[in-house]
Formats: sequence, C-alpha cells, structure tokens
Amino acid sequence: MYTNVPVIGVIGHKDSGKTAIIETVVRMLTRKGYRVATAKHVNQKSFSIDSEGKDTWRHSVAGANPVVSVSDIETGILIKDGVKRFSLDELPCFTPQVDFIMLEGFSWLILNDEHVGKILCVRNREEYEGFKNKAKGEIIAFCSMRPLGKPILRIKEDSKILVRQALKFLRKKQKISKILNILPGLNCTKCGYSSCEEMAVAMYRKDAKLNDCVPLRLRSKLKTKITIDDNEVPIQPFVSEIIRSSILGMVSSLKGISIRGNEEVHVKISS
Ligand code: SF4
Repeated sequence: MYTNVPVIGVIGHKDSGKTAIIETVVRMLTRKGYRVATAKHVNQKSFSIDSEGKDTWRHSVAGANPVVSVSDIETGILIKDGVKRFSLDELPCFTPQVDFIMLEGFSWLILNDEHVGKILCVRNREEYEGFKNKAKGEIIAFCSMRPLGKPILRIKEDSKILVRQALKFLRKKQKISKILNILPGLNCTKCGYSSCEEMAVAMYRKDAKLNDCVPLRLRSKLKTKITIDDNEVPIQPFVSEIIRSSILGMVSSLKGISIRGNEEVHVKISS
C-alpha cells in the first residue's frame, strides 16, 4: 500500500461492536491530540447521504461528479462512485493532515492487506478461529461484546487495553515511516530486502542498519548528482554511470571541447 498514514481496520459481522470500537478509539486518541479520519462501508444497497430532490442531488443528476456541499458547519464531497471504485490507495487524498485513518468494514480489502492494523470483532470462539486463520498482517486485538476468554478483549471493560494496543501500533508505524523517509525509495533490493519498506521494518526491528542500504552507502562516491529544486534525487551507481558517460559524450561532441573524463560538469535546466 499506499500511504505513510497508518490505517486501522475494524472488521466483524453485523452487531459485533465495530462502531463502538471506532467511537472508543477515536474519542480516546483525539483527546491525546491525534487527528483521525474514518471511513465506513455502508452495507445497504443504493444508500446515499444525498436525498432525492435536494439541490446537490439535482446537480449530480445533471451530470456533476463530485458534488461539493458547503454549509456553515461542514463541507461534504459527494463522489458518485460506489464501493467498486473505492481504494485504500486513494483514501488519503480525501483525508489530508490526519495522523491515522480508521475503517469500519471493508473486510475484503483489509483482511489480506498486511499494512492495515486489524481490530477483529467476534461474537463467538468460532468467529475468532476463523479470523485468526484468515487475517494477514498485524492484529491489534480481538474484541467482543461478550466474555469469550483470552486473548479476546471485552469492548467496554477492556477499552483502555484496546486503545493502548492501537497506540502501540500507530507509534510503530510512525517510526517505520520516519525510517522510510530517510531511505532512497529505489526498491533496488540490494540490501537483501524486497523493498525499502521491508528494509525500514527490518531497521525498526534492529535487524538491519542504514549502512546496509547500498545506494546510500555509495552516494558520496557517485560521480553524478541530480538535484531537482535543491532536492537530491537518489540514483543507483549504474544509473549514475550511464548519465555521466552520456552527458560527457554529448558535451565532448560540442565544438572546441575536449573531455579528459575528470571534469566537473554542471547542467542546469530551468523552467
Ligand atoms: S538497498 Fe536501499 S534503496 Fe535499495 S531496497 Fe534496500 S533500502 Fe531501498
């Protein structure tokens, strides 16, 4: 996935306490200063928060998409695309400046997504076993409205434990995200991990060090440096060499120029 914004998904069958969990976590973490966005899958055919005959409804019937409604207390963006077009990758575009996102439902998207921290709501031990076998990635907690025994938390009575576990997940994600921002993002696998993200997780677990990132280690030895608006663009050694020899080759063909190979050449491209 997607974004550096951590996502917590709350999944469970009908009446298993999903909304109560979202309320608890959102309430307790917003009190601590966290900014939270939520999204809920509405399992009701043709549901709309718009109403037939309203001005916004008339705008959309005329063909507008999205339709934005702005009042003195809220701004609503009505996107006339349903769940088939919903994507976790695009969600952060609609939820800027939040520290994390909570989802209610969307089990088909979340259950197999290793990036999403999961709170799984169960009504009995069978549902617990089912989720335990199916869920991929980090499980923040199993919760239930009824006492079902360990490790299943009770939604009301164990709310502080639940919030503590959610907070632990968020802090871990924030630390991994900070590490990821230092890595070049080339996903070249030269560190032995399949992506920079996997390397960031390994660094978080102290299984890897920054120096294991080959492009970073070689950066000072590269003979080509590309900056865009003062931001250095990470490049791999062979790309550095291709750019260097191509530019030197082009420059050497200019009239009156002879290239020794050890010159410092600056190319500046302006808007
Ligand atoms: S070597 Fe560096 S750039 Fe390449 S995948 Fe590993 S961390 Fe990312």
